[in-house]
Amino acid sequence: MTSALVAVPVVPAPADALGRGLRDLRISVTDRCNFRCPYCMPRSHFGPGYRFVPTPAALTAEEIVRVASIFTSLGVTKVRVTGGEPLLRRELDEIIRGLAGIGVADLALTTNGALLQRRAAALKAAGLQRVTVSLDSLHPEVFAAMSDVNVPVSQVLDGIHAARDAGLSPIKVNCVVRRGVNEDGIIELVDFARREDLVLRFIEYMDVGSSNGWRMDDVVSGAEILGRIGSVHALEELPADPGAVARRYRFVDGGEVGVITSVSRPFCGDCTRARLGVDGRLFTCLFASEGLDLRAPLREGASDHELRTIVARHWHQRDDRYSELRASGSRPLQHVEMSYIGG
Ligand code: SAM
Ligand code: SF4
Ligand code: SF4
Repeated sequence: MTSALVAVPVVPAPADALGRGLRDLRISVTDRCNFRCPYCMPRSHFGPGYRFVPTPAALTAEEIVRVASIFTSLGVTKVRVTGGEPLLRRELDEIIRGLAGIGVADLALTTNGALLQRRAAALKAAGLQRVTVSLDSLHPEVFAAMSDVNVPVSQVLDGIHAARDAGLSPIKVNCVVRRGVNEDGIIELVDFARREDLVLRFIEYMDVGSSNGWRMDDVVSGAEILGRIGSVHALEELPADPGAVARRYRFVDGGEVGVITSVSRPFCGDCTRARLGVDGRLFTCLFASEGLDLRAPLREGASDHELRTIVARHWHQRDDRYSELRASGSRPLQHVEMSYIGG
């Protein structure tokens, strides 16, 4: 990774067509995963015959860092590394080291936690600041139903503890809630997060991708989740973090919890996120069907200035607000899969 990347002056990208700045970048470093959560990578679709992005088509570690440096030079301050399962990416430490080296102010990683126990210290040493661990249930059978894999939930808990020991905090925990599957475990997770001092976020089940057979009936709304928590623990709403998507609540006796209401109360008006797919396509919405190919100009020798111009122009034209339009039924035929684009 070249140190020349550090010196690029920041010239913020122009706002998009709806007046939103470019502040965050999510980078998917692999589209493969060791889990098969039915809401994300159902086995029926992601079976042995599924064609993942082949290695030569994926951005290399160096290309990822170069693209990220283009984004930081356009005003991005938050970078989240995701996937698929990012801990499956062989060069992950190198990628993190490179991202830390270009001076990303807020560098985080989202993981299912299964491989975190033995990797947390090295990731911290490489420059990772914090992690979000997905954990849909503490109950072994419900966890198995939500992840569809033979990994005990205790392995994820060990990963969380290793992340804490390594200093990767604050540790966030994401829980997708599905009607009739894990909704009865909400309070157990809240109590666990309070005991362990974790920042818990409940996520409404979304219609991402085209394979999970999403139905509105399977969504448990943020309001219902808060109602369940509020019936046990008194809650007070907190001001939203600028640029963050969760509605946050404080327990009156300490700690906080949040809900991410992408379905019932969308937040497209504040969406400042770009997403980089495994093969270098740039997506300006989680629900997009098409991305802009950055890999071709990258491999054809484009200068930093040329790449900055390509990204800035694309952002300037952006008018995505899918979640706000969802109810009108104007859904594109194909969405890119969550495991490819990253959460
Ligand atoms: N494999 C890692 C993990 O699970 O944390 C990172 C990638 S995963 C795609 C990122 C996040 O997206 C996870 O927290 C996951 O729960 C969430 N997610 C996946 N499919 C979803 C869906 N249909 N609705 C809501 N959240 C979803
Ligand atoms: Fe894998 Fe994460 Fe998707 Fe689950 S949510 S299948 S862990 S990428
Ligand atoms: Fe952003 Fe698209 Fe989600 Fe709206 S639907 S918040 S524009 S990613």
